[in-house]
Amino acid sequence: MNAEPTIATLRAAAAGCTACRLYQDATQTVFGEGPEGARVMLIGEQPGDAEDLAGHPFVGPAGKLLDRCLAEAGIDRSRTYVTNVVKHFKWVPRGPRRIHSKPGAMEIEACFPWLEAEIAAVAPRIIVALGATAAQALFGKAFRVTRDRGRLVPSALAPYALATVHPSALLRAPDEETRRRETLRFVEDLRKAGAIST
Ligand code: SF4
Repeated sequence: MNAEPTIATLRAAAAGCTACRLYQDATQTVFGEGPEGARVMLIGEQPGDAEDLAGHPFVGPAGKLLDRCLAEAGIDRSRTYVTNVVKHFKWVPRGPRRIHSKPGAMEIEACFPWLEAEIAAVAPRIIVALGATAAQALFGKAFRVTRDRGRLVPSALAPYALATVHPSALLRAPDEETRRRETLRFVEDLRKAGAIST
């Protein structure tokens, strides 16, 4: 019987994935990173421009904000596993810039087996969906981050699961006061995940 694939073998296999058209316009597959056995798995939507170029998840502005909020919540990022529901950057050109484009249902579905395999290999105690795309991919179309964030959600994928906003939403806050307030709520959701993971 074949052994359960490791993150290293999954990453190598995903590097050549052509299961949907997104690989055509992206630089590379951006697979998840973190230790197998991580107790917290953070799941975003898809790599952005910086991640596509670097080949690592959550290394751009939203990733840096995530790092700061994790630290504030008492969570060491290097002990978490960080990934996305879609592993290639989807974008549209605007002048010289590449602008993020939301992945469609078919792309999310095509990529979901990679995420399931990551969850099986890492076996986290809690999965944390960051933003609506990840939350709906994991918990169903009816899930509303605005309504259900920070609450435990039953999931067959891990003993515990919850959703919160994506850190990029904090960067897009319309004013400083909203950003400050929403960042505090985000840290609170992360702190809750951290407490459950121990
Ligand atoms: S987005 Fe996912 S399913 Fe589509 S080509 Fe990339 S790795 Fe494969």
